[in-house]
Amino acid sequence: MLRDFDPEVANALRDEALRENEQIILIASENYVSEAVLHVQGSVMTNKYAEGYPEHRYYGGCENVDRVEQLAINRAKTIFGAEHVNVQPHSGTSANLAVYLTVLEPGDKILGMSLSHGGHLSHGAKVNVSGRLFESHSYGVSRETGRIDYDEVREMARTLHPKMIVAGASAYSRTIDFAVFQSIADEVGAYFMADIAHIAGLIAAGFHPNPTLHADFVTTTTHKTLRGPRGGMILCKAKFARDLDHTIFPGLQGGPLMHTIAGKAVALKEAMLPEFRDYQAQVIRNAQAMADELQARGYKIVSGGTDNHLMLVDLSGTGLTGDRAEKALDRAGITLNKNVIPFDTAPPTVTSGIRIGTPIITTRGMKEEDARRIVGFIDRVLLNIDSEEVIREVREEVGRLNKNFPVYTGRLAE
Ligand code: PLP
Repeated sequence: MLRDFDPEVANALRDEALRENEQIILIASENYVSEAVLHVQGSVMTNKYAEGYPEHRYYGGCENVDRVEQLAINRAKTIFGAEHVNVQPHSGTSANLAVYLTVLEPGDKILGMSLSHGGHLSHGAKVNVSGRLFESHSYGVSRETGRIDYDEVREMARTLHPKMIVAGASAYSRTIDFAVFQSIADEVGAYFMADIAHIAGLIAAGFHPNPTLHADFVTTTTHKTLRGPRGGMILCKAKFARDLDHTIFPGLQGGPLMHTIAGKAVALKEAMLPEFRDYQAQVIRNAQAMADELQARGYKIVSGGTDNHLMLVDLSGTGLTGDRAEKALDRAGITLNKNVIPFDTAPPTVTSGIRIGTPIITTRGMKEEDARRIVGFIDRVLLNIDSEEVIREVREEVGRLNKNFPVYTGRLAE
């Protein structure tokens, strides 16, 4: 028993299961996997070296891991309509890097969404390898609408002639028009990569346009709305298959994490069920209910609402910073993250916004009325940010709400 051998780690595991039960988690990039996915993540497949690809390995004894990797590939192909799939990237960032290294040379130009307007580090931020290896440029959202200005992207692409255009975001609440991105990439002769990390589950369920038809490469994490284990995945056109696979292994990685790939296979099977479609529909309904309720209570939402699983609340003018809000809410039992808003004047360690996402509360079974109730909790804390009494009261209410939506109950006693 782990508890006997290593009580320190056992206690941390139990406390994490407790935290995941007792807090309301609104971090847009997180989710709670099923017991089945948890099970295979902790399975014997963690023991196996399997450098290479199914049927072409550098190690013996790969007959079982070959089966799960092929299942994961086939399922992803079916769900997203992809010509080729690589399920081995260890993370979303390494998936993106693999795509760049497949078709670009160091110093080539890439054009992605600005980190400060909702893009991801790996889309060319200067502190990231993507911004260090390549000459990166970024587009943002319009100050008036909070939405991507596709005309501006086109103008930038015409002027810069990037070799790669990247669409996708970590903090953007509107539908992304991948067809327009493709037309821009085609016009300037650039490769087009769509990073669907945040919205992969919505796409799998048919609630967001699927870029697989348009893009040369589609990258994703598997652990956000897709609700699988922590990891990455790449879909691409058949013509890039060999080069991409070669970039991942032996280019960037050694042995794939076969227990995680098994988890990806299981999560992808779950993503094919009608229940998964219902889940994603509810994720969006919950997000819209929260955005409506926040606006009814006078909060500003960047772009005025949401089409997906998240929203950015603009706290400028309230006297609060994202950092202060995040810390007070956490004490009240509500975990979310501070986030820069477009054109933010506060530094990233402080920020003028918070990001709210609904994947986890929806996995727990919460519906619109619960989502609205949570907004009520948030509002009370933000209006009484210096009152430890209010924070304590809200924490008790959070506890009462969460009791109706237990998770990982078997793990609480471990
Ligand atoms: N791409 C996008 C759009 C993301 O939001 C993220 C993570 O939040 C990533 C890539 C990177 O994923 P990872 O943390 O697995 O490297």
